[in-house]
Amino acid sequence: MTLRDSFGRQITDLRISVTDRCNFRCVYCRSADPENYRGHDEILSWPELDRLARIFLGLGIRKIRVTGGEPLVRDGVEEFISRLHALGFPDLSMTTNGHLLAERSNRLLAAGLGRINISLDSLDPAKFERITRTQSFSKVMYGIDAVQNSRLAPAKLNAVLVRGLNDNEVEAFAQFARDRGVIMRFIEFMPLDADRHWSRDLVVPAAEVHDRIHKRWPLVQVPHERSETARKYRFADGAPGEIGLIASVTQPFCGFCSRIRVTADGKLRTCLFSKEDHDLRFLLRDGASDDDLVAYIRSVVNEKEEGHRINEPGFVPPSRTMVFIGG
Ligand code: SAM
Ligand code: SF4
Repeated sequence: MTLRDSFGRQITDLRISVTDRCNFRCVYCRSADPENYRGHDEILSWPELDRLARIFLGLGIRKIRVTGGEPLVRDGVEEFISRLHALGFPDLSMTTNGHLLAERSNRLLAAGLGRINISLDSLDPAKFERITRTQSFSKVMYGIDAVQNSRLAPAKLNAVLVRGLNDNEVEAFAQFARDRGVIMRFIEFMPLDADRHWSRDLVVPAAEVHDRIHKRWPLVQVPHERSETARKYRFADGAPGEIGLIASVTQPFCGFCSRIRVTADGKLRTCLFSKEDHDLRFLLRDGASDDDLVAYIRSVVNEKEEGHRINEPGFVPPSRTMVFIGG
């Protein structure tokens, strides 16, 4: 069985958020002010998540990414990953801020995790602290080391670039990729921050990042799957490491989008920028059969938006910010 939307795009990729809580407060994501987390009973239980995962696998989802909030702050995430592995998802990954990674990497490996993305927005500990509002720089570095010394290597590191904040580090990140043999991915800042500080001026276009790195170390494009968000490059001089550019704002890839999301409170979202989300939790708790859920998911996916409208006049960001969607 496959999931297809009304534009003929096949949906094969699910991001499933297991918590809206996080131990960081990245400036481009959360607010410095306290936010209201959902109550524990509003968050899908592990059995509810297991059931959804099984249904989505049956619907042709091949890539599943466990995310949050910060997935490692929820107890039981390794066991969940192990059950996803047993279900047989061909591509099983997680996105984490890396704070708890060094101490948990062995359990994640044993659970069958196939790939991992780690957020790293600065190589300067003081700036890292300004961005994440934590002092976890060295813990994240240990987490990266743990991944580099495991079968999950090379680590994929994600940096969200914000003009005037960390865009002066592009070359340093590229140097880091070369020195450590990691995949360094640059993500354009999207209007999903809690403080609503996003503006077009703060976006560092992927083309600029490419040109700056290419000037210093010529880059060669590496083929990518059509549905992949990142354009990938290796270094022409044969140095290890890879560069990934995710131009969500300046060169949207919506035409090839194969992705849907389930939020920690059980809402199905067909786009990061969807105006509304769709209540799977209600159905799960209201005695819906698997067939009911399949029919509902199909009908929601059929309505998937053609694309986001960030670049259109009158664009209004969604009310849910990134930490409450699951990136
Ligand atoms: N807490 C984990 C982490 O930070 O890796 C997983 C969840 S986080 C919401 C997932 C990804 O979304 C991270 O790579 C983060 O940098 C990215 N992100 C958060 N807010 C963003 C924004 N406003 N624009 C672009 N990317 C954003
Ligand atoms: Fe937490 Fe990830 Fe958002 Fe940073 S980007 S505040 S680590 S959820």
